[in-house]
Amino acid sequence: MRPRVILFDLDETLHDRRASVEAFIPTLYGFLEPWLSHVSLEDFRATLHRVDYGGYVPREVFMQRLLEAFDARNFDAVALAKFWRSEFAKFAQPMAGAYELLEFLKSKGIQTGIVSNGTVQLQQAKIDALGLQVDVVVISEAVGVKKPAAKPFLEALRLLEVQPSETWFVGDHPVNDIQGAVAIGIKAFWLERETAWSGNAPHVRLERLLDLQKFL
Ligand SMILES: [Mg+2]
Repeated sequence: MRPRVILFDLDETLHDRRASVEAFIPTLYGFLEPWLSHVSLEDFRATLHRVDYGGYVPREVFMQRLLEAFDARNFDAVALAKFWRSEFAKFAQPMAGAYELLEFLKSKGIQTGIVSNGTVQLQQAKIDALGLQVDVVVISEAVGVKKPAAKPFLEALRLLEVQPSETWFVGDHPVNDIQGAVAIGIKAFWLERETAWSGNAPHVRLERLLDLQKFL
């Protein structure tokens, strides 16, 4: 049955976070130059990807780990995290097929939404920078709890006035996205990116975002 609503995760689903981080690296490297003048850009890039954990750690923790990895001293991780939050969105890159898919869904009369873990400031800035046109945005900070908890999903359903059985969810995280959605009765599509499959919730695997069209 065709859904009335399709909800999406943001990072590594509609937003190609890996590509955005790559695009941001030279600017971040330049900003951190006072502490990292002894580090090559290539070493910086490799270490950043190692301590970034796909963005699943707070930026303060990330900055602490990044600079400590190079034995840097006298830095303020909180101030540096603030730089990430204010600048990263400027480098946001869309996932391949994201705009085409949203347009396609609109043409079919299917409503769309984003349900994302993170801070309102940074996630909304990325959505705005990418110009993603969706009907509703729910960010975990605003509802007080992160996926896989039911509340962020249910808030999107409430705003769109639909039932779980009328809704699909697309995301890259086996637990936060797939397990969370399936737990409340939403059919889930797993976009295979860098996070390996590690769940047991039923789902449909997507190699590419646009493959979702085949199911509509
Ligand atoms: Mg994600």
